[in-house]
Amino acid sequence: MRDVLRALLDLQEVDREIYRVKEELRRLPKERDRRRADLEAKRARLAEFEAETRLGKVKLKELEDLATQQRQRMRKLETEAMASRQDAASVAAYQHEIRSVKKEIGEAEEESLKLMEAAEAQEKLAAPLRAEIEADQKVFDEFMANAEKEAAAARKRLDGLLAKRKTRGVEQVEPNVLRDYEQILEARDGLALAELDNRICQGCYINVPPNVYVRLARGLELVRCQSCDRILYLRD
Ligand SMILES: [Zn+2]
Repeated sequence: MRDVLRALLDLQEVDREIYRVKEELRRLPKERDRRRADLEAKRARLAEFEAETRLGKVKLKELEDLATQQRQRMRKLETEAMASRQDAASVAAYQHEIRSVKKEIGEAEEESLKLMEAAEAQEKLAAPLRAEIEADQKVFDEFMANAEKEAAAARKRLDGLLAKRKTRGVEQVEPNVLRDYEQILEARDGLALAELDNRICQGCYINVPPNVYVRLARGLELVRCQSCDRILYLRD
């Protein structure tokens, strides 16, 4: 059993590094996706602001056109009222209409002012967001360039480690033991073996029962930590 443990320890030494490099390779795309999603969320928010601003501009234009038409109508009414000034009844009717047109112009102007204020408020929110997006995009581009380099370096390191792993005595270990070992490796963050020191598992720092130590010291079987499941070994 000592030979198996020694072979597993040799393997663990390389596998621990392999695990770290793979973690790194997994981390980079995750990090990239997270940053990209952040940026896209900000862009969507800005697009909303901009759509509202555009809509406001359309409404404003409509109101301005309306006010222009009403002013023209008012001038026409004033001319007509002047022409019929002999007829008191029609003058009163014209004045009544002129007042209502004036009121409509006033309302359109008030509404326009509100729209302009809203557009200004919107721009106050949009401008810093636009600057933030621009800055974030620069950071993201830098991250991407670095991530590309880091990933390439990690892949190269991984190739080296995988070649190194082949020189370790994998064939000395039975397939089922190797399978268990690899499962623990994945489940326990790249560390499948743990030293038992003073009856304390150095993987999870839990005190193991005395019989675990006895079985391990006997050296006839692989003994696993009952708490973290790692394969235990004693230092020579
Ligand atoms: Zn443990």
